[in-house]
Amino acid sequence: MANYLKRPNGTEDVTPKNIHKWLTVEKVVRETAECFGFSEIRVPTFETTELFHLSVGETTDVVQKEMYSVTAKETVYTLRPEGTAGTIRAMLQNGMLAEALPQKVFYVLSCFRHERPQAGRLREFHQFGIEMAGSASPYADADVIMVAKQILDTLGLKNIQLHINSIGCPKCRAKYFDALRAYFADSVDTLCETCQGRMQRNPMRILDCKSPVCKEIASGAPKILDYLCEECTEHFAVFRSALDTLQVSYVVDPTIVRGLDYYTKTVFEFITTDIGAQGTVCAGGRYDGLIEQLGGQSVPALGFGMGLERLILTMEHQGCEFLQPSSCELYIAPMEDAARPEAMRLANLLRKNGSRVEYDLANRTFKAQMKYADKLGAEYLLVLGSNELETKQAKLKNMKTGEQLPISLGDDFEDAYTAIVFSDMFGDSPIGESLIPKN
Ligand code: ATP
Ligand code: MG
Repeated sequence: MANYLKRPNGTEDVTPKNIHKWLTVEKVVRETAECFGFSEIRVPTFETTELFHLSVGETTDVVQKEMYSVTAKETVYTLRPEGTAGTIRAMLQNGMLAEALPQKVFYVLSCFRHERPQAGRLREFHQFGIEMAGSASPYADADVIMVAKQILDTLGLKNIQLHINSIGCPKCRAKYFDALRAYFADSVDTLCETCQGRMQRNPMRILDCKSPVCKEIASGAPKILDYLCEECTEHFAVFRSALDTLQVSYVVDPTIVRGLDYYTKTVFEFITTDIGAQGTVCAGGRYDGLIEQLGGQSVPALGFGMGLERLILTMEHQGCEFLQPSSCELYIAPMEDAARPEAMRLANLLRKNGSRVEYDLANRTFKAQMKYADKLGAEYLLVLGSNELETKQAKLKNMKTGEQLPISLGDDFEDAYTAIVFSDMFGDSPIGESLIPKN
């Protein structure tokens, strides 16, 4: 196959056969976010590269190895590798942080990272994410986690464990970094090259390295929880008690340090063991320093990103139900050429009312049309021939039961319209509600 006929490595097509899975997940994430008071925001697919350097951080895998950047007329742009940086940039640029706080937004967007493609790890992937700016309360940490938890529950997912940790603030981290540097000093030559560079600038990044050698060395490293200042300790305790009140189970996991630099205090991941090594379906935390670091006021903030490919993989693996796509409600079969304009006219009348109606566009024989209507999953079939058009009488065939319902077509299809639109035959199908629950 010619190269231009192949999609780029690490990207996916979603064909109509699978789109209902995405529509199910997108519907649930949107509705859940709205229940918690988050509004949708849409931001550009690319931002200046500098924005990601300043926010995601110079010592992260994302910035060091994974960004897709292009230079256009001397400005360097990068396809967004995540959603937080662009969202915070948009909040600042649109003056949202001067309004009543906290500001709460969500997004569904594509992200781009140059990684080695494998199951659950793509070069173009999709995230649902939320960001809350303007609350320092540990209850906000719990609230953000509840958005993710309610989504996972609504989708019917099981056995997804919540891992939490606190990575403190710059105050506690200074002492912790010293302890880490002392710990890694003996084995610095064995660490991967990237981690050697991280020793001075951000030794905590070593804990997040994917190399098995670094992982092994890091397994005995000092734990940040032992270095938290009083304020961070108190924040973590109240956050945990909020989760207890909500009866959310979790494990405290000191290995969660998150891949991005902007996190402070609470960090968390929802992890499944069902889809292999790439088991983190949702990851997030607090980033109290980010907004100020980008040149705004000091506004505490937090959020998460949920990988939608991993979410759908897990749903498939667990046999979760997806909403079923709607199919054709009525297929109109013209018996001969003279009936085609009439079939078209009636179809368009009914579509205006929101019914899902199709008619023959392929010059099929009558027999072939029957087969095609069946393939479409049409609920009803209406045959239009010269006889029907003359007598203004036709039969609606229920494709499931085979039952034939006589209807009058009336002048200008008035009667047919009334019979079909005002019967309960098709149920409601207003635009936007085109997904009907399975069975
Ligand atoms: P990982 O450790 O798996 O590389 P990360 O720390 O780089 O993840 P984040 O930047 O926190 O991930 O992104 C949030 C979520 O987005 C992840 O938990 C995951 O569900 C999803 N995600 C991240 N990278 C990819 C990718 N390359 N392909 C598919 N999903 C991804
Ligand atoms: Mg990664």
